[in-house]
Amino acid sequence: MDVFEKWESDIRGYCRLYPTVFKSASNARQVDEAGKSYVDFFAGAGVLNFGHNNERMKKALIEFIQNDGVAHSLDMYTTVKRDFIQEFAQTILEPRQMNYKMQFMGPTGTNAVEAAMKLARKVTGRQTIVAYSHGFHGMTLGALAATANSYFRNAAGVPLNHVLRQPFGCETQCKGCTLGCGVDSVDRLRALYADPSSGLEPPAAFLVEAIQAEGGVHVASKEWLQAVQKLAHDLGAMFIIDDIQAGCGRTGKYFSFDDMGLDPDIVTLAKGIGGFGTPLAMNLVRPEHDKHWGPGEHTGTFRGQGFSFVAGVQALSYFKDNELMTEVVTKGREMKEHLQGICTEHSAQAFQVRGKGMMQAIDLGDGALAKDVARRCFEAGLLIGACGVGGRVLKLIPPLTIPNSDLHEGLATLSKAIGEALEAA
Ligand code: PLP
Repeated sequence: MDVFEKWESDIRGYCRLYPTVFKSASNARQVDEAGKSYVDFFAGAGVLNFGHNNERMKKALIEFIQNDGVAHSLDMYTTVKRDFIQEFAQTILEPRQMNYKMQFMGPTGTNAVEAAMKLARKVTGRQTIVAYSHGFHGMTLGALAATANSYFRNAAGVPLNHVLRQPFGCETQCKGCTLGCGVDSVDRLRALYADPSSGLEPPAAFLVEAIQAEGGVHVASKEWLQAVQKLAHDLGAMFIIDDIQAGCGRTGKYFSFDDMGLDPDIVTLAKGIGGFGTPLAMNLVRPEHDKHWGPGEHTGTFRGQGFSFVAGVQALSYFKDNELMTEVVTKGREMKEHLQGICTEHSAQAFQVRGKGMMQAIDLGDGALAKDVARRCFEAGLLIGACGVGGRVLKLIPPLTIPNSDLHEGLATLSKAIGEALEAA
C-alpha cells in the first residue's frame, strides 16, 4: 500500500476504511492481494447492481472489443448507442407510457444533476432550486449547492448560491429529528410562495431523491412526493427526481418512484445504468423541456460511452421479466427483518432500521460506533459503508444478484460486529 500512500492524493477516502489492495472481484465478492475474500455490501456505492464482472456483461464486452466496436465517439451516432436507446425505450419507458428524451452528458452523477439544474433554469428563466436537508447530489458547484452535507459544502471555496433548503418528507420520522418533515412542510412553503411579501421568488425546480441514500437512507412518503410535485407544477417549476443511487432496480422496481403516481419533468440517472462499473449518466427529459437545449450546449467529451452502452443493454435484460425484481423484494425483506432483529437484540440502544428493497440501513445514532462496526466488518470479511449525519448509519446495498449464501454470511458478520463493538464501547 506504500505506493498509494506515497503518491496518491490525501483526498483518498474509501481506501482508508478498507485498508487493503483488491485484486479480483466476482458478483458480490472482492478478493484482496493476500487472497482474503470479502462479501461486498457496498457495491461501488450503487454502481454494481448486477455484481462485479457480471457474466452477461463480460461476454458482451469481450465480443464488442474483439469486433472492434466503437468505444468512444463523443456524442456521434454508434450502433451500441442505438442498441442502448432502443432497449431502454422498449424495456423501461414504453411499458410505463413514459415520454422522455434521453440526454447523455459527462458520465458522472454530478454532471447529470448539473445538466438538470441548468435546463430547469434555462426553461423557466428562474434561478432558485429547492433542495432538501440531507440531500446528496454530487460535488461540482451546481450540484454541490444542492447537496446538504457541510463537510462537502465547506470544501467549495465559493458561496453555494441559488438553492432554498427545505426539510425532507420521510415516511418514518428519524429518532430525535426536529426538522419538521412531512406534508405540512410543503403546505408551509406553499403559503410562503403565495404571499407576495414573503421574500421568496418562484423557483426553477424542486430537486429531490425519492430515497436519500448518502444522506442516511431516508425514504420519502408517497404523499409528500406528490405534494412536492403538485407545488412545483402549481408554481410553474420543474419537478426533478435524482434517481442516481436509488434507481436501476435497487428498490425492487426500475425507478425508486415507480407506482407513486409521479410524473417528473426530469429524472437523473447514472451509477447502475452502465452496469459493469464503466461510467454512464443519462437524464430523462420531457420533450417540451428538452427542445430548449441548443446543440452541444451542455457538452462533454464522454457523453455516452461504448462499453457502458454494451453493459447497459445487458443490465436492461434483467428487467424483461419479473425474476430479479421479485428476488430483490424478497431479499430486501430478509435484510430488513435481520436488521430489525439486531434492534430487538440491543433494545437498550436507540437503533432504527430504514430502507426500501435492497437499500436497507441501520441507524446506530453514533458515528464512532458505526465506524467501529464497519472496521470490525472489514476485518471479518464484509465491506459495508457508513453514511448519514456523522456517518452514524450503516447502509447495506449489496449487488441485487448476491447469492443467498453471501447475503446470509454478510448479515451474520454485521450482527456479530455490532455485538462486539457494543461490548467494547
Ligand atoms: N446523486 C445521488 C443521489 C448520488 O447518490 C450521487 C452519488 O453518490 C450523486 C448524485 C453524484 O454522483 P457521482 O458521484 O457519480 O458524481
